[in-house]
Amino acid sequence: MIYSIFARFANRSANLSVRDTLGMFFNDHRSKLTPDFPSNLNEAVKQLSVFEYASFEYLLYNHTPINYFTNFLMTVDKNLIINEVKQKKSQNLQMSIGQVAFTVKESNYFKYCPTCLKNDLVSLGESYWRLSHQLPSVMICSDHKEILHYSSVLYRNKNAQLVCPHLNNCNPSPLSQCVNDAS
Ligand SMILES: [Zn+2]
Repeated sequence: MIYSIFARFANRSANLSVRDTLGMFFNDHRSKLTPDFPSNLNEAVKQLSVFEYASFEYLLYNHTPINYFTNFLMTVDKNLIINEVKQKKSQNLQMSIGQVAFTVKESNYFKYCPTCLKNDLVSLGESYWRLSHQLPSVMICSDHKEILHYSSVLYRNKNAQLVCPHLNNCNPSPLSQCVNDAS
């Protein structure tokens, strides 16, 4: 997810606050990052190009759930939403995209696959939130066919934080267990 790009950068930068980190990329004063569709993404692309994220379209289609939420929309409606992500002042994008009325609600917490996490930490020394794991209704890691788990990191974090998945915030909490508990 695009959120992971900024979280990984924040872990390594000398910036003291999330606001400083996000200000570097978005050239504004936001204090938190919308995980799925951050506004003014076109501005951030200028800074991210040094990391080989080549264009707004590349980021949009590879690092946001745009296809998941707009696949069955009319082209004119899809373009309106894309412009909202691209520009500085985003209206209520969750409303535009239909997330508010969506019958399958998003998770309150980032989801992760234990095997992906373990493999990442061994091979990369760090991990990242995978886009496919965060989609509403997705409960299985498509790579390992394992049930996803909830992390303890809020998906829409009201406290300004940029957090990568790690053993500290990814304790076993399988979605199947949560479904059973709720029923
Ligand atoms: Zn996996």
